Amino acid sequence: MSARPKKSFGQHFLHERSYIERIVKSISPRPDDFLVEIGPGEGALTFPLLTAAGKLTAIELDTDLLPHLQAKAAGIGELSIIHADVLKVDFTALAQRHGVSRLRIAGNLPYYISSPILFHCIDHAAAIADMHFMLQKEVVDRMAAEPGSKVYGRLSVMLQLACRVEPLFDVPPGAFRPPPKVDSSVVRLIPLTAEERHDADPERVHAIVKAAFAQRRKTLSNALRQLMDADTIRLADVDPKARAETLAPHDFVRLAKTLP
Ligand code: SAM
Repeated sequence: MSARPKKSFGQHFLHERSYIERIVKSISPRPDDFLVEIGPGEGALTFPLLTAAGKLTAIELDTDLLPHLQAKAAGIGELSIIHADVLKVDFTALAQRHGVSRLRIAGNLPYYISSPILFHCIDHAAAIADMHFMLQKEVVDRMAAEPGSKVYGRLSVMLQLACRVEPLFDVPPGAFRPPPKVDSSVVRLIPLTAEERHDADPERVHAIVKAAFAQRRKTLSNALRQLMDADTIRLADVDPKARAETLAPHDFVRLAKTLP
């Protein structure tokens, strides 16, 4: 099948076999996995994954792609399609409904909503064993960035407080039809265990991180002025004169815990 890719759905279909193989190898699907693919498109990853795992649940928004996916899957394995916007799919409920403790999620994500999808997955991290995503390289660089780096920011802190972030390899525009304007990268995300996760209120952490990076050039005492004063920042063992980009993810957790 070769439908005209739709820009509005962020469709860039992967066609380069060597990259498809590398992604599937990185995922290493096993027959007892509960695999979920976000945005199967024409099935570049779907069918190799289905061959390896025997069954797969795919979430696709574009109605036009569904008949081909269903028809081609028939001889390969058990493909269950959820025709929906992935942002509306409750991964925790999906795992519970199928009696599995944790899902394995993969996808060559639609780039226009990659950050909302990442934050959505983080909200359901306890129900997810791992994620393998193709994203814009620039987004993966931001996710994996360390304090002090120019691209360290809200995405780095929020992702690293929820998951281990492992960038795997880059993929050039020519591997897709049509080629995107940017380079891409594949990343593995492994949600932290309950023991590894922080115990601060997630909403408070998010509020602090958002405010701190909204004005990243300012000192923390300035950027967080609406939320806490310099003495409270010191209580968290953080220098009020420091800038957000120099703080480690756990510094934000301590700040959230001292939030009045
Ligand atoms: N996996 C295919 C591949 O690698 O060739 C297609 C990847 S393409 C970059 C992104 C896919 O996500 C498209 O099939 C698109 O229709 C689908 N998509 C876009 N927005 C979506 C949404 N909100 N929920 C679910 N799928 C979506």
